[in-house]
Amino acid sequence: MTDSHDKNCVFCKIIDGLIPSERLYEDDKMIIIRDIQPKAKIHLLMIPKEHYKDITSLDQRTAEDLGLCLLKLKELSPVLGIDGGFRLIINRGERAGQTVFHLHIHILAGGGLIGF
Ligand code: AMP
Ligand code: ZN
Repeated sequence: MTDSHDKNCVFCKIIDGLIPSERLYEDDKMIIIRDIQPKAKIHLLMIPKEHYKDITSLDQRTAEDLGLCLLKLKELSPVLGIDGGFRLIINRGERAGQTVFHLHIHILAGGGLIGF
């Protein structure tokens, strides 16, 4: 467990294997898991391993790390079954619906997303 982990954070616990998850991908920077309460046919979460409270906690270096995570979507999308199209959402703050205060990117896919 690194200093950047928060022992009370549900996503840090998932990253550390203390809470089970359906982990579809992992590298040194992030994991991709299936959301436990899906809001689309396919609902995944891309979670950086570093504990950032939200998108406004990033600085120049860490934003670059997040960019590298996002770049992976190109090669991963066929593996994840989302190459037909997907939507990314980042909630920031309670009033935007953020409930887990460890930065994560929602990946929604599987159809039915047009018209938002
Ligand atoms: P947000 O509302 O943007 O903070 O998103 C948090 C997301 O995490 C929600 O869509 C939850 O369904 C999801 N979530 C919470 N706990 C877990 C868990 N243990 N495993 C997988 N997804 C989770
Ligand atoms: Zn965390």
